[in-house]
Amino acid sequence: MAKKRKIRTDRMLILIGIAAALVLGLILVLKGCGQKKEETKPEETKTAETDQTQKEETPEESKKPEKPEEPEEPKEPEIDPETDPRFFDTDSLLVIANKKHRLPEGYVPSDLAYPEGVEMRYNTWSMRLEAAVAIEEMFAAAENEGVHLVMGSGYRGEDFQTTLYYGYVDSYGKETADAISSRPGYSDHQTGLATDLCGVDTAYDLTQEFEGTDEGKWLAAHAHEYGFIMRYPKDKEDITGYSYEPWHFRYVGKEEAAKIYAAGADMTMEEYYHISGGDYAD
Ligand SMILES: [Zn+2]
Repeated sequence: MAKKRKIRTDRMLILIGIAAALVLGLILVLKGCGQKKEETKPEETKTAETDQTQKEETPEESKKPEKPEEPEEPKEPEIDPETDPRFFDTDSLLVIANKKHRLPEGYVPSDLAYPEGVEMRYNTWSMRLEAAVAIEEMFAAAENEGVHLVMGSGYRGEDFQTTLYYGYVDSYGKETADAISSRPGYSDHQTGLATDLCGVDTAYDLTQEFEGTDEGKWLAAHAHEYGFIMRYPKDKEDITGYSYEPWHFRYVGKEEAAKIYAAGADMTMEEYYHISGGDYAD
């Protein structure tokens, strides 16, 4: 019995050994497979990654034309027209003077000049140099087409406007004075870029009948070619703050005048540049 038992325990030990070896073998095999799988996996992901990077490179290339859009982004928050130096730096040819925007106190342009070869009435008028040169060119061009223009006003200083405005206030009252004249500091004429033009047909008066004269018609059609726009077109009083003045022209430079005119013969600076206008705040 003891022998049998010994044999049995021996067999048992052998069996346990075999079983252990099998288990070990299995563990090793499984580990080996796991390692292999792990090894292949990174390879697969690696290739996948390289594929992705390759794929990503091509979309990037196709995205490249989109790149110029990036500088456009800062354009979205455009400069507020109400603070844009183009309209409020007094050196700018687009400087705005209207009933909502006063020029700096006592502003006098630094480059005033007297146009030459230009007939004038009521005074000897000056304008800022570039506008003075442009008005000479415009008058000469009109003359070549048989249209004789006369300059009835140009730069008017704050002192002049003070006398003019308070003279109207004394004569007609504030309401009428505001309707026909600018308060000192608010006049387009103080920019040195505005002019009132007239002709013999209306006896050199500044009247709406000027629109029907040869001079008025010529200016309405050609002034923009010389850098001038009609500053107070018909039916735009709510926008400009002034009733129709077919005689009042404002120099903005040829490029801007062409753009404004192309947007409409009765386009205003306020509308074109999105600047507030209309009546005085008070
Ligand atoms: Zn005027």
